[in-house]
Amino acid sequence: MGLYGGTNTLLCVHRVMVSISSYKTEHSQRSVVFLRYNRVQCKTTFYQKDVMHELIVALHLHTVYSDGTGVHADLAAAGLKAGVDVLIVSDHNVLVNDVEGYTQKGKRRLLLLAGEEVHDRTASVGGNHLLIFGHKVGLTRYAPNRQQLIDQARSAGALTFLAHPLDDPLPWLHERSFAWTDWNVKGFTGIELWNQMSEFKTRSQSLLKAGLHAFFPGFMMLGPTEQTLMLWDELLLTRKHPVVAVAGSDAHAHTFHAGPFKAQVYPYEIAFRSITTHIITPQPLSGEINSDRRMVYEALSAGHCFCANDIAHSTRGFRFTCDNYDGTFWMGDSVSAKSGLTLQVRAPIRSHIRLLKDGKLALEVRDREVLTYLTKEPGIYRAEVYIDYRGRHRGWIFSNPIYAV
Ligand SMILES: [Zn+2]
Ligand SMILES: [Zn+2]
Repeated sequence: MGLYGGTNTLLCVHRVMVSISSYKTEHSQRSVVFLRYNRVQCKTTFYQKDVMHELIVALHLHTVYSDGTGVHADLAAAGLKAGVDVLIVSDHNVLVNDVEGYTQKGKRRLLLLAGEEVHDRTASVGGNHLLIFGHKVGLTRYAPNRQQLIDQARSAGALTFLAHPLDDPLPWLHERSFAWTDWNVKGFTGIELWNQMSEFKTRSQSLLKAGLHAFFPGFMMLGPTEQTLMLWDELLLTRKHPVVAVAGSDAHAHTFHAGPFKAQVYPYEIAFRSITTHIITPQPLSGEINSDRRMVYEALSAGHCFCANDIAHSTRGFRFTCDNYDGTFWMGDSVSAKSGLTLQVRAPIRSHIRLLKDGKLALEVRDREVLTYLTKEPGIYRAEVYIDYRGRHRGWIFSNPIYAV
């Protein structure tokens, strides 16, 4: 596969510098647009609607190489059963990347990638865990200096996400908080907006609730906490760069004991069926590891993704797009609002859809599959979708923003 037909155009649009280069690949046609957003240049990619693909990524996973209970092959087998396309393993302070590759079962193909979750073991308080994806050499030696760690990861071409940025302690289980506390850092790719283990801690403040959530995971997930959503909105408004949100399992498959009962919290397969990150890509997995790895990390880096709770109902098919005279744009993209925007949220089934601008509600619809919003106002637009499941109104989908300038 080769690129051909490249062109470059430079346009000046009211405070916004736009550089468009179009090129075709064998399977897709896309354009790359550079917008000056918040005084920082960020890259925008828009694709033709009909060539988009959706891959389900389960990320933030632990194996026996740190404090998980399964080996990589167990995770891959569980991933195939659960129907995910990509696993990104991130053991604590160790990069085990000679396990990267595909597992195939029938027509289904799963790609396993390896990153790491780095934290300073010598710190007096826990927390400040950093997920690093896409590097070739472990970066644990930089753990004591978070900014240096992020900078080193960036210069290695890797992505960095602040893991479980808000995290409650669970006193009755002697579990501490592992929240992110060093807010002087900059230059990170994004945050883990939704972390399944963190949510378990938040919602299981009694033994009874923990037992219920361990045995019946579907009852637990309600969405990222309000505080975490507020934190993300604040970061989006105050940071000089996009802040990508991802959803992680933090899967360990530990065994939980409650009196005479015991259960795994959560088995890998259950974890992979619940909190995942869906990425939008120009192609399906090709089976060529270098290009597939690059494609997955490019989609995450650009924020072409949404956080999903697939246990309530499959979120496959969710789309948040924006049309203007330049074309169709996706989550993570920056667009010029000057000529007017048509923002559209499409949910897989009738649900409660909310569109937020700069963290505040702009429009919501209930019991609908589509929300459409016309505007000329610059702002950071993102979508949330809620669904009724097991007697509760639950957070189901949280999109990355479209940045209108
Ligand atoms: Zn962690
Ligand atoms: Zn973890």
